[in-house]
Amino acid sequence: MKNKIQAKFKELFGEGGELFMSSGRINLIGEHTDYNGGYVFPGAINYGIMAQIKLNGTDKVKVFSIDFNEYVEFALKEEDKPKQSWACYVFGVCRETLKRGGKVAGFDAVFAGDVPLGAGLSSSAALESVFAFAINELNGNGIEKFELAKIGQSTEHNYCGVKCGIMDQFASVFGKEGALMRLNCKTGEYKYFPFHPKGYKLVLIDSCVKHELASSAYNKRRESCERAAKAIRENHPDVDFLSDAKRVWLDEVRDKISEEDFIRAEYVIGEVQRVLDVCDALERDDYETVGEMMYQTHFGLSRLYEVSCEELDFLNKLARKYDVTGSRVMGGGFGGCTINLVKEELYDGFIKAAKEQFAAKFGHEPKVYDVVISDGARKLQ
Ligand code: ADP
Ligand code: MG
Repeated sequence: MKNKIQAKFKELFGEGGELFMSSGRINLIGEHTDYNGGYVFPGAINYGIMAQIKLNGTDKVKVFSIDFNEYVEFALKEEDKPKQSWACYVFGVCRETLKRGGKVAGFDAVFAGDVPLGAGLSSSAALESVFAFAINELNGNGIEKFELAKIGQSTEHNYCGVKCGIMDQFASVFGKEGALMRLNCKTGEYKYFPFHPKGYKLVLIDSCVKHELASSAYNKRRESCERAAKAIRENHPDVDFLSDAKRVWLDEVRDKISEEDFIRAEYVIGEVQRVLDVCDALERDDYETVGEMMYQTHFGLSRLYEVSCEELDFLNKLARKYDVTGSRVMGGGFGGCTINLVKEELYDGFIKAAKEQFAAKFGHEPKVYDVVISDGARKLQ
């Protein structure tokens, strides 16, 4: 990747330029907790986007995407938004930096990546954060890291039509090798926890399906959570979000909300606790408990929150059968990947079985991504 980028940069722009890199992310546990003000627990991964960048002394941005084999040039006024969707991420990051009082001098850039697009590893956050980080460095803006993550998030909101939370950009900017980050989505507080699963592998199995239901179901789940939180708030006024509620407080309102809202809320409150339990387990190097919590999350997402699907339940069941330590659907649901924590000696057998049996049932092989928790946005030497 590096050689390709450097060769293309030389061809288009000549000598010079500095290399920057950022990463995609996984979320070990803490699903559908973000909009409930709860915890998420992501980490940056060994799949990323690398960019070579140099200020060019003009007021124009000239950027080449190796993966799309496309060159785009734009000035930095709002009306200059490019039509290529990948370039809108770069443009958005420039605009959002300017909106925060940062300087954005014109630059030349060539970039490429290996985060699979749209597989749930957040290639878009990797793209935003590598440019947000590099622009900040090259212009000496001194914008703080959390604000760099927000530049990425606002880019998605304002230039790419995606109303996302902060987790992906946060993980991509703050990621560290061998560490997961527990982020409190209500306060923005975060804490690093060691993640050194010696003797285990972390592997994603991508079902390569995306069911239509996803966005309407997402809105319905949010509404259920808001109704449950509102009912609990009548007894406990300090409850801003559902994640603030204790489990017994939910039981108190059982007769006041629908059965459906109840089980949705039951999942969310359980999930917030599971993140805390996983953090405790990691401090003891207890990966068996981590894995068990992942299975519990899958059960909750499948049976209580009802955002799984046949393909993902199949992969989860197969993981149990092959003694995989932990497995669950990752992301919003209705498709995408399962994330699996598996003992090294069981890895080959499990992956072989997953590929063969999934293909026999659903007609196509799933994709497999071995994941290592790695550094996030950074300058390369
Ligand atoms: P994801 O879940 O991977 O973030 P998105 O749909 O949010 O999926 O973002 C994917 C988009 O990000 C792509 O359509 C493209 O515009 C941009 N993108 C991601 N990776 C690259 C890359 N390596 N090169 C160019 N653009 C990329
Ligand atoms: Mg994305």
